[in-house]
This record gives sequence, C-alpha cells and structure tokens, in this order.
Amino acid sequence: MTVAIDTCAKELQALGQDIVALGAGEPDFDTPSHIKEAAIASLREGKTKYTAPTGIPELKKAVSDKLSRENGVNIPSTQVVITSGVKHAVANVLQTLLNAGDEVVIPAPYWVTYPELVKLYGGTPVFIETSVATGYKITPQALEAAITPRTKAMILCNPSNPTGMVYGKSELEAFAKILVKHDVYVISDEIYEHILYDGRKPISIASLGAEIAALTLIVNGVSKAYAMTGWRVGYFAGPAPIAKAIGALQSQATHHPANVSQYAAVAALNGGLDFVHKMGEEFDRRRKFVVESLRAIPGVNAPMPEGAFYALPEVSSFYGKQTPTGKLIAGSLDLCAYLLSDELLAVVPGAAFGDDRCIRLSYATSMDNLRKAMDRLRHGLLALS
Ligand code: PLP
Repeated sequence: MTVAIDTCAKELQALGQDIVALGAGEPDFDTPSHIKEAAIASLREGKTKYTAPTGIPELKKAVSDKLSRENGVNIPSTQVVITSGVKHAVANVLQTLLNAGDEVVIPAPYWVTYPELVKLYGGTPVFIETSVATGYKITPQALEAAITPRTKAMILCNPSNPTGMVYGKSELEAFAKILVKHDVYVISDEIYEHILYDGRKPISIASLGAEIAALTLIVNGVSKAYAMTGWRVGYFAGPAPIAKAIGALQSQATHHPANVSQYAAVAALNGGLDFVHKMGEEFDRRRKFVVESLRAIPGVNAPMPEGAFYALPEVSSFYGKQTPTGKLIAGSLDLCAYLLSDELLAVVPGAAFGDDRCIRLSYATSMDNLRKAMDRLRHGLLALS
C-alpha cells in the first residue's frame, strides 16, 4: 500500500497535479559524493564482474568492523551476507528460517513487508497490538504471552517504521531475557539505527550478552543512513549456520547485489557518520514542525517520534464523518483517498501497517512541502462534518 500510494502520487504529479507526497520512505538527500566517487572509481578499475555470492570481502569486513565499532557486536565477516537491500535480507532470513506453520511475533503497527513475507514463506504472523496510549510499545509481558511452542522468531524494528518509537536498553534487556528463556530468534531490523532524536544512541539487542547474540539475526544496510535507497545494498549478520544457509540460498537466487553498489557501500560504511548525523538534525527540525502542526488540529492525537522519519498520528475521531461532497469516511483508506483527491496530499493509511486508527506521514521531504502538507491536512480534516 505504501508503494501504491507513492506510485499513484507520482502518476498524478506526472499529469501536472500539484501533489504533496508524504508517502515515501526514503531520505530526500542525495547520496554523499565520496560514496559516488568510490563507485565510479570501482567501475574505472574494471570491477564489473561477478563477486562471491555473499558479497565482496571488503564489504563483509566493513560490515563486521562497523558492527564492532558502532554496536559493540562481534560477528566475523564469514557470518555476514551482503543482500540486495534490507528487504531482501529480511526475505532471506524468513525463507531460510521458517517451516510451515512456524509463528513469527510482530509488534503492530508494523512495516508492511514483515507479515507478507512471513506468509509467503509458510509462516503465521502473530501480532501484538500497541497504540498511541502505550507509546506504540509492547511490554515484555505481552511478548511472553504471544510466544507459543510454534514461535520461531520475533521481528524487532528499532527505531520503528511506521511508529517512530525507540526501545531503550532496559526494555531490550527485558525482551532478550524472554527470547532466551523460550529459545526464540529475534530478527533485528536496525535500518533506522542512526536516525535518533534527543540524544538517543543506537543499541543493538545483540550487544546485550552472548545468549541473546546467539539468537539475534541482524538485518541492516545503507539505504536510509547514507541516502542510498536505489543502490540496493543491505546485509545479514548472525549465527554461522544461518549465514551459511542464506549464502547458499542467495547463490541460487539473486547471487549478489551489483558490484558497483557494493564498492559504494564500502565507502559508506568506512566513511563515518557525519552525513547521517547532519541529515538527522534536519529531520529533527521537520519532526518538531510536523508534530506541532498535527497537535494543533483538533481531533488529531500525535505522539512525538523518537527515531526514523515518520509520524503516525491517530485520526480515528474523524471516522464516521462526511466529506464536503457527501462521501463517508469509514476508516484510514477512505481518509487517505479523500486527502489525495480533494487536498492533493498523499499520506499512507494506517490499515497498511495493521492499525486503521492512524495515518503515516513521512517527513523526509522539504520544509516547503511539509508546510503545504500540514495546511492541506488541516483544511481537509476540518472540512469533514
Ligand atoms: N526495513 C524497514 C523497517 C524499512 O522501513 C525499509 C524501507 O522502507 C526497509 C527495511 C527496506 O530497506 P531497503 O531499501 O534497504 O530494502
């Protein structure tokens, strides 16, 4: 649904409509030039042939070094597999891990892809509901209650897309204890780890002890932190048998991401965090503007995101109302269709993320766009009666 909204908005834009699109999940910044230069240099040096299916040794080493330097996690490069984006890493993990009927615990609202992939590979998603009232967070008790003898893994997206919520160390420790007790893997999606606000620091659950490290399947990549969504480089890092199985799977399926993208990713991971921190400062300004604007609209319940670049306000107080042309707004799908057609504003219905009460706005776009978007949202919502 997120891609569908974005595609529809782009089609309308191409037809000349003045659409403001807050649907996309990608930074509006360009890939830093030192990364592009590294890619160009690799082409000039003729690095254009097949690489090992699990990725070039330089990149696997860069990932291993990064995990130790930034996360305090020690995983040798032999246990790293370079994938075609984080989405592909998640797919590889689930395809490798799941047998028919295995359950995967997913906190809701969730990133759209998780339950679809779990189902695709024969598993059953088990959701733990959260809401603005719970800060979009699950409790350790809720996690334990969701675990059954069929539970193979939980998916932890921290910071979260779509909620912007971030678990701290003590919360992760409580989850780790339960996962270790029940021998359940955690697929730790750390793609937004460096987009954090108010002085928060990234914490990988794998850093919280040897027992949980043995159950942690890290998926991460360069898409968001280095504004490299189109380069398609992600990675898996985790226990040796799973890395080996993913490597075997990948060698028969996609082989490896483009050589040129892998060299770009080496430069990204070895090049420091200045870029992502600067980008984060800009996202922070936008975050505050968006949330303040949302909170100024009567009937909107907007929590302050702690990480990533999304706001997920509850807007269900507008359901049951009618548009100026008499259409009923029954839920988030109707609301987003109305905002797109009447206000030329593209936002994503909460239903896509498993929570119909909310809508998701990406603030990875310019302040000018955000000002327009907030005016249109306010106008559209207040026109409902
Ligand atoms: N994981 C989460 C939580 C995401 O939000 C996204 C993209 O929106 C991805 C993974 C996909 O990342 P990639 O573009 O590297 O496949």
